[in-house]
Amino acid sequence: MPKIQQLSPHVADLIAAGEVVERPASAAKELVENAIDAGAKNVTVEVQNGGMTFLRVTDDGCGMSAEDAEIAFLRHATSKLRQASDLEAIHTLGFRGEALAAISAVSRIDLMTKTADSAFGTGLHLEAGTVTERDSVGCPDGTTIIVRDLFYNTPARMKFMKRDSVEASALISSVSRLAIAHPEVSVRILRDGEEVLHSPGDGKLFSAVYAVLGRQSAQEMVEVGSHWENYTLTGYVSKPNATRGNRANQLFFVNGRHVRSKTMTAALEEAYRNQLMVGRFPSCVLHLTLPEHLVDVNVHPAKVEVKFLNERDLFDCIRYGVEGALEKASGRVEMKLPKQEPLPATPNMPVSQPSAAVASPAKSTFFRTMNAEDYKAFAEVIREAPRPQMTPELKAALDRQKQPATREKKAEQPEAQQEIELKTEPYRIVGEVLNTYIIVEEGKNVLLIDKHAAHERILFEKLRKAAEPIVPQLLLTPILCKPEREESAILLENADLLREAGFEVSDYGDGVLAIRQIPAELAPEQAESTLEQLASDLKSGKRTDPTAMRDAVLHTVACKAAIKGGWHTDEKELAALVKEVLSRDDLKYCPHGRPICAVLTASQLERQFKRA
Ligand code: ADP
Ligand code: MG
Repeated sequence: MPKIQQLSPHVADLIAAGEVVERPASAAKELVENAIDAGAKNVTVEVQNGGMTFLRVTDDGCGMSAEDAEIAFLRHATSKLRQASDLEAIHTLGFRGEALAAISAVSRIDLMTKTADSAFGTGLHLEAGTVTERDSVGCPDGTTIIVRDLFYNTPARMKFMKRDSVEASALISSVSRLAIAHPEVSVRILRDGEEVLHSPGDGKLFSAVYAVLGRQSAQEMVEVGSHWENYTLTGYVSKPNATRGNRANQLFFVNGRHVRSKTMTAALEEAYRNQLMVGRFPSCVLHLTLPEHLVDVNVHPAKVEVKFLNERDLFDCIRYGVEGALEKASGRVEMKLPKQEPLPATPNMPVSQPSAAVASPAKSTFFRTMNAEDYKAFAEVIREAPRPQMTPELKAALDRQKQPATREKKAEQPEAQQEIELKTEPYRIVGEVLNTYIIVEEGKNVLLIDKHAAHERILFEKLRKAAEPIVPQLLLTPILCKPEREESAILLENADLLREAGFEVSDYGDGVLAIRQIPAELAPEQAESTLEQLASDLKSGKRTDPTAMRDAVLHTVACKAAIKGGWHTDEKELAALVKEVLSRDDLKYCPHGRPICAVLTASQLERQFKRA
């Protein structure tokens, strides 16, 4: 056994550097954190070659004195902690006093820094952690630090670096997270001279989110704001229809620090339960503020993992906070119309062009300037246009209104029929198109309601809210089916669960299953395919807890029992659907996360037709 020796500080720094500075992104993160801790209002990050050859961070923070500037590069040198008890309440991003020591150990550094009360600044040059030059320099207040040739003296680490473009994007995301964590700081990133981020630093979270995630994502988000015990939750979450195939845009911050936490992710996703398609994930920017003694930030070298004293409270705070925000948000999806080019200026536009004519503000001119030919054609169109007709239902309803004596009878009628009342609804059902979408005019909006999605959600909510088990119907003759072996095994194994969902399934021998009972909502012809769907849901094995299982069963039942797009649906039924959708606010998405209602606004239409 060789003799034990204590490692030299340089080797110790290299080892520590391995943890703290994994790649250029981590160096940039530490430097920007330092700038924010120094009270900077503006931070600029410049990178070349993904940060491998050149990384410069400039801030207008408090700067350092000549003496402090040198100490800053020593291991465990920090101005942010004094004694052990300070660790219990950390207000700054940094506190370990390791970053500058670690970064400088594996690179060449130039530092320029100046405090407001000194006339001159300090310039330092370091090679592999050792100061090789020191100077008095003229420079603005604040700190500029340039890191060159990262990992030049640790070839083993260098080998792990990815392509410049990959390193650059990791760096951009990590600095962007800081921009979101600190909306009060304006953060700029220049990659190879090109500006890729510039957050305004106006203190508004939405501005930072907008700058980082872009206009579209920002606009698809709903605001969250809630309190729970000692916790405050603020931020934005995506609407259930604006999800992604991965979790990359789930950003969590705890007391201003970006963290990763399984509990937080789980709580977020729980809030979307029954609103998401399989394999889709919500995005979020959530800031959690809680008393510092309830969270330990000192459990991870790069400080991205933290430990919470009470994970259950944390979970509930996020889950209910997000759920509440989603409930309040409108589920209506704004339709995207192709952008219209502005009209070319054509002074001699023939008057017979209806678009030009209609666009003119004074409608009367339209008729006056029409020539006889055009007018005839126009009149033809008007004559051919379908006229509003009184449907038999409407007529019957009118009659009923006229004879109040017969009105009591109405109460016994099925729900759908009651809808044809003449009380004026704040909307008008225009009709149905493609046997799928109901068109409704409501104020200045045109709504398109997907009848299947709407009905599916209504059924699902009804089934879910029913305190009692789902009402089953006994089949006179059992349905026999022969699913795949694995599937029939799964169905039999889960017979109890299925029974709760209204199915009675038993082994008929020879791989054949007998279905004796199905949910009342389901037509017998749908029984087999519903069970097939359930078997595959159960097989995917993700739904282990009983409520989630029940929900999965209910999804399938609701989906199968709902009226389908493409089917003919009775007018009364459509009216009943519209009424439900427009009067309840729990009907936003079908249980798979597809929107129920899309909106076309008057101004969108006006723009489309170049009226606006
Ligand atoms: P920590 O941030 O954990 O304290 P660092 O190694 O990152 O450790 O920094 C060491 C010290 O150097 C900090 O505590 C701070 O006093 C000083 N420092 C680093 N960067 C800056 C900066 N941009 N502006 C002012 N002071 C800085
Ligand atoms: Mg630091």
